[in-house]
Amino acid sequence: MKNQEVTIKTIEHATHDVLHIVVDKPDGVSFEPGQATEIFVDKLGWENEGRPFTFTCLPEDNYLEFMIKTYPSRKGVTNELLSLKAGDHLIINDIFGAIAYKDEGTFIAGGAGITPFIAILRNLKAHGKLGNNKLVFANKTKADIILEKELRAMLGHNFINILSDEEVDGIAHGHITESFLKTCGLAFDKTFYICGPPPMMEAVEGMLTNLNVKKEQFVEEEF
Ligand SMILES: Cc1cc2nc3c(=O)[nH]c(=O)nc-3n(C[C@H](O)[C@H](O)[C@H](O)COP(=O)(O)OP(=O)(O)OC[C@H]3O[C@@H](n4cnc5c(N)ncnc54)[C@H](O)[C@@H]3O)c2cc1C
Repeated sequence: MKNQEVTIKTIEHATHDVLHIVVDKPDGVSFEPGQATEIFVDKLGWENEGRPFTFTCLPEDNYLEFMIKTYPSRKGVTNELLSLKAGDHLIINDIFGAIAYKDEGTFIAGGAGITPFIAILRNLKAHGKLGNNKLVFANKTKADIILEKELRAMLGHNFINILSDEEVDGIAHGHITESFLKTCGLAFDKTFYICGPPPMMEAVEGMLTNLNVKKEQFVEEEF
């Protein structure tokens, strides 16, 4: 699929810096939960500035949904998205992605790295297959947690948060460490899905390797 124009139905903040964008779904668009597309802002001067974003809706939904963390200071695509409104257009391109659900395990996300897991977990829920999958979600502050209520309702005690920059009662404080991972009741012999900024992913992979998780158990994508 090449350069398909879509119209924004709604665009609003999901958190202080994350946009929740819903667009119409062109005929023929199909994706697997966890996959992404390249998005362009349909404005003069932005034709060559495509950036990857993950579908967070279900494959069978009759719309496309994205959760997009914005970086105004970079003056890039996510900053441009902040100026858009319902009725404006985006261009979406090829569909791709490295993260797909294999089997029950642990999802570890940093910040916007949650987006492929939103799609995968929503899809599992829709099919009654959430099972004992666990989610470890690392953020700076509580206000940064994307879809906190929905994830809590979906996963209950299998939704484990950790905040690096804020101390909140009942939520772990600090960065993910090996000893923190050991307290989470994770199945270290099962699959680990990891998505986030490269330094976080590298660190987490190192910790899990020390905890005897094998390379074949990792399913990963860098944001
Ligand atoms: C497969 C995939 C799927 C993704 N899905 C999502 C998603 O669903 N939601 C989501 O929020 N994100 C997602 N991302 C991440 C997202 O693509 C980036 O955040 C986005 O490309 C940022 O675009 P931008 O134009 O605003 O900034 P960039 O293109 O990152 O930056 C613009 C300019 O700012 C400068 N810059 C870059 N990085 C920094 C920095 N760290 N500090 C200071 N200046 C910098 C550089 O000069 C750069 O050219 C995904 C990434 C991948 C690979």
